[in-house]
Amino acid sequence: MKEFDLIVKNGLIATESDEYYADIGISDGKIVQIGTDLNNAADVIDAAGMLVIPGGIDIHTHIDAPLHGTHTLDDWYQGTVSAAFGGVTCVVDYPMQEIGHSLRDIVNKWSDKARDKAIIDYSFSPVITERTEDVYKEIPQLIKEGFPSFKIFMAYSYRAHDEEIIRLLDLISSNGGILGIHCENDWAIGYLASKLVKEGKVETKYHPVSRPPVAEADATSRVIRLAEMVDAQVLIVHLSCEEALQEAAKAREKGSKVYVETCTHFLKLDKELYDQPVEEAAKYVITPPLREHKDREALWNGLKTGAISIVSSDHCAYPMSEKLRLGKGDFTKMPHGAPGIETRLPVVFSEGVSKGRISLQRFVSAVSTNPARLAGLYPRKGTLAVGSDADITIIDPNKKVRLATETMHSNCDFSPFEGYITDGYPVITIAGGRVIVKDGNLNAKPGAGKLVKRDLFKPF
Ligand code: MN
Ligand code: MN
Repeated sequence: MKEFDLIVKNGLIATESDEYYADIGISDGKIVQIGTDLNNAADVIDAAGMLVIPGGIDIHTHIDAPLHGTHTLDDWYQGTVSAAFGGVTCVVDYPMQEIGHSLRDIVNKWSDKARDKAIIDYSFSPVITERTEDVYKEIPQLIKEGFPSFKIFMAYSYRAHDEEIIRLLDLISSNGGILGIHCENDWAIGYLASKLVKEGKVETKYHPVSRPPVAEADATSRVIRLAEMVDAQVLIVHLSCEEALQEAAKAREKGSKVYVETCTHFLKLDKELYDQPVEEAAKYVITPPLREHKDREALWNGLKTGAISIVSSDHCAYPMSEKLRLGKGDFTKMPHGAPGIETRLPVVFSEGVSKGRISLQRFVSAVSTNPARLAGLYPRKGTLAVGSDADITIIDPNKKVRLATETMHSNCDFSPFEGYITDGYPVITIAGGRVIVKDGNLNAKPGAGKLVKRDLFKPF
């Protein structure tokens, strides 16, 4: 009998704190040995010249989701296939509580959608859209059952107000969970947007004008203060600008348990992209909107210093036809979202590590280790250590790929990164010890991914 099911040989292993040459021995879906000259396996991958990192973890996605009067295109098979080709081995999605239903209902509904389709492990962070007494009551039990993270919005019709925010922060945090918050001052944005529309300013280029950085910074600072009042941990989701980052960085320096997520698009794309015909500009209609060059510089610096903990995709694969049907003549009506589950690792690696903006270790921590911590998955996932799940991504650090919707694997019909040429690309993805993507080929069974029970949040 063979000693291992699989050995990954000769690669440069990179974790958030280290890099070294070694072999990884895998059996029964787990890493069972890390050492030199491992032999005697049923299968061997030669990773010479490659980087071997813990599998990417994306904790901000919207898969198979009805949103904004339309529906995202990826189901749990195609969404997780797209993830796997982008070096992602675990997804934590944001299902939205439905009107008149419980959080448990939406968790059950999403479990049913994912069960026979997902090819990688997954879980859900319910989005709380109705703050009823029944919802407050069910939260502690959901945390115990392995769903320790939730999300609320300060924007959109289901926005939460301050009393609801502080109560949820207190409740979730004191039960060992963490609340993620979409921070924008919706009252101000609503006013600015309707003023623009009244003036006939309805083209897509007014989308960022209606949602200025200060509206995000204002809401971010309020959330941080509310969290401080009840000594709660909080995750600021998809932070986009320097002003909001300054608020979070200041609070972290004095010891607040505030964690910051940014997204791939904010690290690469500028708001000038909105100054194009709507068919092109619509690709970038997301919230918060794209910002300026100085914001991108601030975000890269935040990743370097640790003020920003993670980079997620906010994968939201709306059909372009629907974005245009609903929002062509009025930017305020366009669904906000774009795909990104497959482009996150390639773009952040190319722009970050290959261009020397962040170290390989910071990259690993931003796309894998810290997402695992925030989701309650560490150290089962998010690192390469004996006993951890054998979720491994192998990156060719020099591979140039021209990103194109046609050759990627989401069902979405556009990408905000169309035409981008990478400098480094994930070439092999191993999930639970199974080699699911290798050199452009997929070898995965729908339903092979499992719903993972997550642990309580531990501050870091
Ligand atoms: Mn959001
Ligand atoms: Mn989102």
